Amino acid sequence: MSIEVRNLSKQFGDFAALRDITLEVKSGELLALLGPSGSGKTTLLRVIAGLEAADAGQVLFQGEDATGQHVRDRHVGFVFQHYALFRNMTIFENVAFGLRVRPRNFRPAGAEISRRVNELLKLVQLDWLADRYPHQLSGGQRQRIALARALAVEPQVLLLDEPFGALDARVRKELRSWLRRLHDDMHITSVFVTHDQEEALEVADRIVVMNEGRIEQIGTPDEVYERPASPFVYEFLGKVNLFHGRLHRGRAWIGGIEVDAPEHTEAEELAAVAYVRPHDIHVDKVANALNGKGAIAAHVSHILSVGPVVRLGLTRDDGEDKELIEVEISKERFRELQLTRGNQVFIKPSRLDLFPAQIH
Ligand code: ADP
Ligand code: MG
Repeated sequence: MSIEVRNLSKQFGDFAALRDITLEVKSGELLALLGPSGSGKTTLLRVIAGLEAADAGQVLFQGEDATGQHVRDRHVGFVFQHYALFRNMTIFENVAFGLRVRPRNFRPAGAEISRRVNELLKLVQLDWLADRYPHQLSGGQRQRIALARALAVEPQVLLLDEPFGALDARVRKELRSWLRRLHDDMHITSVFVTHDQEEALEVADRIVVMNEGRIEQIGTPDEVYERPASPFVYEFLGKVNLFHGRLHRGRAWIGGIEVDAPEHTEAEELAAVAYVRPHDIHVDKVANALNGKGAIAAHVSHILSVGPVVRLGLTRDDGEDKELIEVEISKERFRELQLTRGNQVFIKPSRLDLFPAQIH
């Protein structure tokens, strides 16, 4: 079941929660809506579900306009962050609930309900908890039951709003890969809301990055991480260093380094910011060992060795950009350089993206 969202807008009073949102979820895809708190993710999910009406725009399921369709008729399953299970019902009855409340003509017979619930409990690997009550389960187990309950009515679309948000880091990680496998096995179309970059990068086929009710970028995890379309996406997805400089007729000057900037052919000179990931910085102890023109001189302020990478915190010698520059190099390269705190180094971005400076 594919989902299409066309030019959706939604206001709460005079506050614009969604501004002209257009996107497509392919059939069988797991799409993540990623953005900071308040960026409109839940509102968008609720409009897709039919729990909230938009002011303008359309939602299509499998090419058919569902904008006016009731939530009941959309065949969606939900899981929320705090999906309160019914406390006085067993786990079995919690999962069976959606089937038992169906209109008589659509309600499966008792034996069929049992069969289906047992199958779902096996699927979420908690069939041994069927007779327990929610308070006897851990948070992670409860969310797996919430998912089984959502799947009981055989939805074609699964909508998840920060389903693991309340769980601790280790359980979140486990459930993430578990959800991915489940999604693939079920051949379902899923939209997964999260504000956690790592979660989105790890679990989704594609990511929609949202900011203040707008879409900043849509792409695969690789695309949004490696080729962010805007400064916002750069800063939201992972660590990034900012180098201030200027742009003129397809060239840029960043702290004494001159680089090509073919996308920026503006005739007037502009202030610009170069965005550079920590692993895209070349480090050396001598300036002339770096190829090309120029390098930025800095001193090593911090060294943090984590697994196969070493993170360096560098202070620029020219006093520009007071923030520490973060660099990631391999342990091998670190040993080769024999770096210690206080050493002078010369750095040069091996890859950067330039954006005209934002005027604040
Ligand atoms: P997110 O899920 O990304 O954190 P939401 O979609 O929940 O964001 O909210 C987006 C913005 O809309 C927030 O600023 C929120 O306060 C506002 N908002 C959401 N729902 C309502 C509502 N029912 N009434 C008024 N404002 C709302
Ligand atoms: Mg939300």
